[in-house]
Amino acid sequence: MTRARPQGAAGSGVGSRRREPRPSLLASQLLTVGIDIGGTKVAAGVVDSDGQVLDQLRASTPDKSKSPQVVEDTIAGLVFDLAERHDLHAVGIGAAGFVDESRASVVFAPHLSWRNEPLRDAVSRRLRLPVVVENDANAAAWAEWRFGSGQGQQDLVCVTMGTGIGGAILSDGVLQRGQFGMAGEFGHMLVVPQGHRCACGNRGCWEQYASGNALVREARELAVAESPVAQGLLARADGDVAQITGPLITEAAKDGDPTAIELFGEVGTWLGIGIANLAAALDPGLVVVGGGVSDAGELLLQPAREAFRRHLTGRGFRPEARIVRAELGNVAGLIGAAELARPFARRFRRARPPRGGTPGRTGSG
Ligand SMILES: [Zn+2]
Repeated sequence: MTRARPQGAAGSGVGSRRREPRPSLLASQLLTVGIDIGGTKVAAGVVDSDGQVLDQLRASTPDKSKSPQVVEDTIAGLVFDLAERHDLHAVGIGAAGFVDESRASVVFAPHLSWRNEPLRDAVSRRLRLPVVVENDANAAAWAEWRFGSGQGQQDLVCVTMGTGIGGAILSDGVLQRGQFGMAGEFGHMLVVPQGHRCACGNRGCWEQYASGNALVREARELAVAESPVAQGLLARADGDVAQITGPLITEAAKDGDPTAIELFGEVGTWLGIGIANLAAALDPGLVVVGGGVSDAGELLLQPAREAFRRHLTGRGFRPEARIVRAELGNVAGLIGAAELARPFARRFRRARPPRGGTPGRTGSG
C-alpha cells in the first residue's frame, strides 16, 4: 500500500492549493496541539478529532518580548509541558499576520515585528514534530467550519471582529489563501475614501468602522465631548474615559443603555455594508461573525443583516447569505490550528519533554 505524501507540513515544502489534506483514519485518532499566538500571550491546547479541547495552557511572552526566538521558546515550553500529560503528534500554529502560501513562514506580523520568519521549521526542529503554520483567522474559520456554526456549508466567509477585522474564505470546503497566502484581509478594504487613518498606512479601511476599536473610539469621543448621551457609559467607567472598553460597552448594551445599543447599531451597519461587498465578490452561502465584538450577539447582527440587505447587489432578486454568530469563542483559532495539523500527525512521532525542565517557559495557567 502506498500513501500519498502529505503536503504543507515541515519537510515537504509545498503547499496544497486545491484541497485541504485530510487525516488518515489512524492519524485522525491522534491528539494534536493548537497554538494561538497573541500580542503578549501564547495559548496552547490539546485537541482531539472531535474538536474538543482536552487541556490548555497559557504563557506570557517574557517581558512582552516579540522576538521570534522568545516566542519559539514559549511555544516549545508549552508543548513540552502538555506532552507530560498527553501523547502529542503534531502542532498547528495560528499567527496573526501574513503566512506564506506553503505555510512555513510568517511573512509579516504587525504585532510581532516579524519579517519572513521561518517559524514552521524552527519549531519543528525544536519539537521534532510535524508543524503547520496558519493565519489565525484562517485557523478560526477552519474550526467553525469543522465543528462550529459553519458546519455543512461549502462556501462561507468568516469575519472576526476583535480590535480590528480578521477574515477568511472557504470555497468548496477549501481555505482560500491566495497566490501569496494573504487572502482574506477584509479589514483593509477601503470603505470610506479619506476616512479614519488606519495602522496599515491607508485611510478609510473597513476595520476603522466595524471593529472593537471603532466601537471604543466612538464611545470615547462622545464621553470626551461630555455628551449627555454618554453619561451612562461614563458612569460605568467610574468617570474615566480610558476605562470605556469594548466589553464595558457590550455589557451596557445588554443592560439596555440606549447609547451603547446605538453604537452597536452603527458598527453593525458598517459590518453589514462590508459583508454586502464581500457577497458581491465571493457569493458565500453563510457569513460567520466571530471575535470579541460578536459577544453582543443580535445587538450587532440585527443591524448588520439590515444593512446587508439594503446594500446587497441584486437585492430582492437573489438568494441571500445568512449571517450568523461564531460558536467556538476564543478557542476557535487554537482548535482550527490543531485540526489543520492533524493530517500530518504520525503515530510513532510524539513530543518528548527534554530531561531537566523546559527552558523558555514563563508561566502557565
Ligand atoms: Zn488598514
